[in-house]
Amino acid sequence: MVQAESVCKNFGALQVLRGISLEVQHGEVACLIGPSGSGKSTFLRCVNHLEKVNAGRLRVDGDLIGYRERGGKLYEMSPRDAARQRRDIGMVFQHFNLFPHRTVLANVIEAPILVKGQSRDEAVARAVDLLDKVGLANKADAYPAQLSGGQQQRVAIARALAMDPKLMLFDEPTSALDPELVGDVLAVMRDLAQAGMTMLVVTHEMGFAREVADQLVFMADGVVVERGDPREMLENPQHERTKTFLSKLL
Ligand code: ATP
Ligand code: MG
Repeated sequence: MVQAESVCKNFGALQVLRGISLEVQHGEVACLIGPSGSGKSTFLRCVNHLEKVNAGRLRVDGDLIGYRERGGKLYEMSPRDAARQRRDIGMVFQHFNLFPHRTVLANVIEAPILVKGQSRDEAVARAVDLLDKVGLANKADAYPAQLSGGQQQRVAIARALAMDPKLMLFDEPTSALDPELVGDVLAVMRDLAQAGMTMLVVTHEMGFAREVADQLVFMADGVVVERGDPREMLENPQHERTKTFLSKLL
């Protein structure tokens, strides 16, 4: 579902991604870990084409992200085509970015109506179902400020799912939450994984990675140092950098 081949990204002279290669199969969950500044968020943003890749190839479901390939050359996609591509990729951030002046229900139905052209009834029916799935059926009429951080994050997940994405990206979805609220969000993510969603998750919740992820990816300095089965990697990391990083984490 996600294929990265030698993906490079720089901001001016700063080389942030220096040849990221990885693959996530359809229905797989990959957890991305690594030191601050190693390029994890930048990589997710490239997958979503919020950032443009400078070199290499990034494909989602076989489609080249952000570019068209003709005769071996790459041409940048129009913003409209890039937006269409992005529609199929859900993203959940550390800070939930809900519209504060709209109810939970209004937050969830907005994009399906405006972007996908769903009828209001259709969008509401789906939103009610999704809010039920994330355990917030009784909060449809609440405003974000009336919810806990964990509840807001679950609304953000429901909002992303309302677009029926084929891939979900999570960038440290629980790191802004109070510890007692983390579990509910991880439980929703676990359900989603079990339902077969393909997920790329930046997280340092190693319990989640161990139990839910099919693949653990350790990034440092803009490259993938090591990736593999989470349990194996956590028990027996192959690289010195992975060992050092994990020993600080666990
Ligand atoms: P963290 O664990 O702290 O979230 P990260 O692995 O997600 O770190 P990134 O946010 O991808 O790291 O940042 C990687 C590097 O790229 C950092 O040095 C950061 O300052 C730089 N960077 C990110 N976005 C930009 C930007 N828009 N312009 C310039 N530099 C940027
Ligand atoms: Mg980050």
